[in-house]
Amino acid sequence: MNVNWNISGHNNILNYLENCVKKNSLHHAYLFFGPEHVGKATTAHFFSKMILCSAKSAENLPCGNCVNCIQFEKKLHPDFHEIYKGIDEKTKALKKNISIDQILKLQSSISRYSLYNNHTVIIIHDAEDLSDNAKNALLKTLEEPNDKTTIILIFKTLKRKTYLKFHTEFPEKQ
Ligand SMILES: [Zn+2]
Repeated sequence: MNVNWNISGHNNILNYLENCVKKNSLHHAYLFFGPEHVGKATTAHFFSKMILCSAKSAENLPCGNCVNCIQFEKKLHPDFHEIYKGIDEKTKALKKNISIDQILKLQSSISRYSLYNNHTVIIIHDAEDLSDNAKNALLKTLEEPNDKTTIILIFKTLKRKTYLKFHTEFPEKQ
């Protein structure tokens, strides 16, 4: 592993992700699974930045200066999307599910080719809480592999149904 990820542990995982970028063989979807506060989101963010940076160092480190890195840090990168469970406007409580509307909105905002002719990266937090309709809508995206899109699904718990469904239907990049 060449890159300092600022994450302790998980060396096998970090090595694997680093190699995907180095070999330019990114999969269409990654499934991050583990308890809270072990670095899943941090890893997903750094991995996304590595993918998006257009001036990576020899060690695949994001440069921090290119338009991609700057936009990413400002949370304005047009090809980077994150989905969270939303807040209920009325109760101000965290919603139970990620709704189909959120997935449809995401799908309509992803152009077939990314705006910077780069890669599109999507992180879905709390993926175990995708509603059934949202899951089905998302699977349509996953069934149409696009070399230029990578989806990272972050799970805290794997409900058996979700696990089987995603594992049997995730297409691998050819
Ligand atoms: Zn950069």
